[in-house]
Amino acid sequence: MRIVLWGTRGSLASPGSDTAGYGGNTACVQVHGAPDECVLVLDAGTGIRALGIALCEEERPVHVLLSHLHLDHIQGLGFFAPLFQSGPTSGAPLPCDLTLHDTPLAEFVIDGYRLRADLICHPGPTVGYRIERDGRSMAYLSDHEIALGPDLERTSSDWLSGFSLAEGVDLLVHDAQYTEEEYAERVGWGHSSIAHTIAFGRRAAPGKLVTFHHDPSHTDSVLDRLHLEMAAMAGGLEVAPGYEGAVFELW
Ligand SMILES: [Zn+2]
Ligand SMILES: [Zn+2]
Repeated sequence: MRIVLWGTRGSLASPGSDTAGYGGNTACVQVHGAPDECVLVLDAGTGIRALGIALCEEERPVHVLLSHLHLDHIQGLGFFAPLFQSGPTSGAPLPCDLTLHDTPLAEFVIDGYRLRADLICHPGPTVGYRIERDGRSMAYLSDHEIALGPDLERTSSDWLSGFSLAEGVDLLVHDAQYTEEEYAERVGWGHSSIAHTIAFGRRAAPGKLVTFHHDPSHTDSVLDRLHLEMAAMAGGLEVAPGYEGAVFELW
């Protein structure tokens, strides 16, 4: 699998010279394999617009997997070019060959990918995904307030939201929206502080933890500093900053 981040911002698109390094587009992650195989797209934030343009040059099936329906995860759908490409279906509201599904809260298969979705802690129905292929795995927990509920350090893993999705994956893409001070003012808003994200990562023990869903107010220099703070807390856990255009190879 190759994982490409097309949008890493949370809550609201935040373009500007002081966010250009990490990117201002909201959540969108591409997962793909060989050039002739299907593409999985996790969420349809504003980052999906540029991905759609790139996908129009190729002819392969596209599967968009939404985590939930907050605007920052669906706002790009109306600008996703593959939806407006001609398919065999005629008379439909969109010209493409479109099929809609409810996300099953169980294991399911898309071409060579084995997926599992499960509800995670966030306001309104929200799922995280675990994706496995050829013995490699990644998990996507974009909007996740891991600290709301049981004690993160002491609770059994079975009771931790999202744990079974994230446990032992090669790559974990996880909400890291707030500083500790910000979180204290936003308990119940559905997101994690950087310390909570690290604590969850240390429990789930991924090969690499990628920070995601950056707060709109966090400039590149703030995110650089937060990344250093996270790395200092991480112990043996490898933490990579999630920035627009980042590519992770799992082969
Ligand atoms: Zn969000
Ligand atoms: Zn949300």
